[in-house]
Amino acid sequence: MTKENKKFYISTALPYVNSVPHIGFALEIIQADVIARYHRNLGEEVFFLTGTDENGLKIARAAEEANIPVEEFAKKNADTFRNLKEILNLSFDDFIRTTEDRHIKAVYKLWQACKKDVYKKKYRGLYCVGCEQFYTEDELVDGLCPEHKTKPEIVEEENYFFKLSAYENQLKELIEKDVIKVIPQTRKNEVLGFIKKGLEDICISRSSERARNWGIPIQDDPSQIFWSWFDAVINYISALGYGTDDNNFKKYWQENDNKIHAIGKGILIFHSLYWPAYLLSAGISLPDKLFVHGYVTAGGQKMSKSLGNIVNPSELVKKYGTDAVRYFFLREASPFEDSDFTIEKFEDRYNSDLAKGLGNLVARVVTLAIKCKTKNEKCKTTIQNVRLKEEIIKIQEDYKKTLEEFKFNEALKAVWELIGFCDRYIEQEKPWEDTENKTEILNDLLLTIDEIAKLIEPFLPETSEKISQQIKSLKSIPLFPRI
Ligand SMILES: [Zn+2]
Repeated sequence: MTKENKKFYISTALPYVNSVPHIGFALEIIQADVIARYHRNLGEEVFFLTGTDENGLKIARAAEEANIPVEEFAKKNADTFRNLKEILNLSFDDFIRTTEDRHIKAVYKLWQACKKDVYKKKYRGLYCVGCEQFYTEDELVDGLCPEHKTKPEIVEEENYFFKLSAYENQLKELIEKDVIKVIPQTRKNEVLGFIKKGLEDICISRSSERARNWGIPIQDDPSQIFWSWFDAVINYISALGYGTDDNNFKKYWQENDNKIHAIGKGILIFHSLYWPAYLLSAGISLPDKLFVHGYVTAGGQKMSKSLGNIVNPSELVKKYGTDAVRYFFLREASPFEDSDFTIEKFEDRYNSDLAKGLGNLVARVVTLAIKCKTKNEKCKTTIQNVRLKEEIIKIQEDYKKTLEEFKFNEALKAVWELIGFCDRYIEQEKPWEDTENKTEILNDLLLTIDEIAKLIEPFLPETSEKISQQIKSLKSIPLFPRI
């Protein structure tokens, strides 16, 4: 009998396709990629999902502005997100577009499953198209949307509503008791604070007219189109086969208690309350964890088209390489709070940590090993020096602990402590001098950088591979040339 592997599921939020990717989304998808790779390395069966949200009103409007038919516009921008796979060396298993048939089938299935909690009523509210959501007067800041600083539109029409209020107590308990664990704690408190104000029912459709006929029409009432925050979150199960492939859906969702959504702080309420409420209503298993990251600013300001400070991840990759970009966001950005991007910070990190730190250590050890022809059949395959061995064990423990708490920066910090330790060890042991045990010292160091290569694999997959090859072939190839 074969032992069944542990399952692991992770998703990113679906970015809107009204424009091309910026580094804010790059941060999220790189973080999710690290988690997916880490769990694959543990031997788990991983499903890593991303895709694009294409049904919102803001997409219809952006296409109109660009004077391109909306289907074509959405596809073109969706492709730029899909291309991140190669540009950022991502390992996602599926890419779902919310305009796909398999998604629409799942939306209809969930709609039917939730119907007991749905009713129709006339409504007048303040709607922000940027957020694709209604706001109450007191949620606005000086009459403006808190996210977009724009004046919301007054909308009056008859729409479908979902009885979120009916789930208030249940949701409160799920969040409080970490059944759905919101990480970090500050975001959990934010959700609990939101519930405390009382949950009102939410509008989950809009008139086809207001939606410019763009979106998923409600089957039994085509005058209405699903609100994008009803349909978009369903991607997390439509991609797994909810409504189309029961076995896969069962395997990665229903019978898996390791399901994580990586999201930005701006869409916390949709994921911690609305999405679980739909699932509760339909009798479907709930996500287990929400990992909530902060935003990336550029030079201290929010990135925006009008400010002209949008940083494009593809251009960074072209100039500095994929792993340098991955490293910067994982090491320099706070996993939970907002982080700032500047080219100066980027180049500082690159030179000090990659060119000097990691690159220098690998080059040094490999070059010394070549000189004294360390690699031979008599060399041990485990580290002999006790101090080095103990240091590695300590680093491995730190690494595991911090990574499982999504503290990517601290996990990398731990690995770089090991790099620093090796540098000092080389200075002390001077394996370039003709000492008796220099073959053993260098062999230990080769084994240690092999361990470093394994540790950085989820973060810097290409560099990890290059290091392993250098150790095998004992050929020195520079990893990160200085800039
Ligand atoms: Zn807004």
